Amino acid sequence: MRLRGPGIALTLDACPGGFDMRIAAALIETGTPATIMLTGAWLRRNPEGLALMLVHPALFGFGNHGEQHLAPVLGSRRIFGQPVAGTLAAIGREVSEGAASILRATGAAPGWYRGATAYYSPAAMPVIQGLGVSIAGFSLSADQGASLPAGMVAARMGRARDGEVIIAHINQPSRASGQGVADGIRALHRAGGRFVRLDELGEVDAITKSEQ
Ligand SMILES: [Zn+2]
Repeated sequence: MRLRGPGIALTLDACPGGFDMRIAAALIETGTPATIMLTGAWLRRNPEGLALMLVHPALFGFGNHGEQHLAPVLGSRRIFGQPVAGTLAAIGREVSEGAASILRATGAAPGWYRGATAYYSPAAMPVIQGLGVSIAGFSLSADQGASLPAGMVAARMGRARDGEVIIAHINQPSRASGQGVADGIRALHRAGGRFVRLDELGEVDAITKSEQ
């Protein structure tokens, strides 16, 4: 997925885990907007992180990363160690219950959904879109699931161009990757990067992979 028109969309998945203050501090310090893809599971464990983001409404937008962080995939296997929802009904619940948790927490219903693992069974996609949300892809993986060293994460972010949709993670405060995301934000800011949030875009502003 890329954006039509100028701007870099920084999307940060809040998979179950903690809150990476290194990243939040870099966003606030540089005035950089970002889209936090929230899980219900993360919201229940991080009320202070949520409160900090809510007092900066110009910077933090929110998307849906699922209620329990179940991959929107049919069957019974695991992907990257993550359980899958398994059925279309469970996928629908993962999306709609996640949206309800985000509405309760932030006061707004999310317009974008990214499934756990970012893999989707083809049959799941019309079910998800039928719930009135757009599927948030990405064009640049900055941290490979918060697994890369800081220098490599910052270097990858430094390659972002206008139209890029960056994915990284804000739920792993004890891993080195998060420092790289913070460094990458500061470097893009110094380079004059212009950022947009997904909730500022309409569906037509984004080009999904299948259209390219
Ligand atoms: Zn995730």
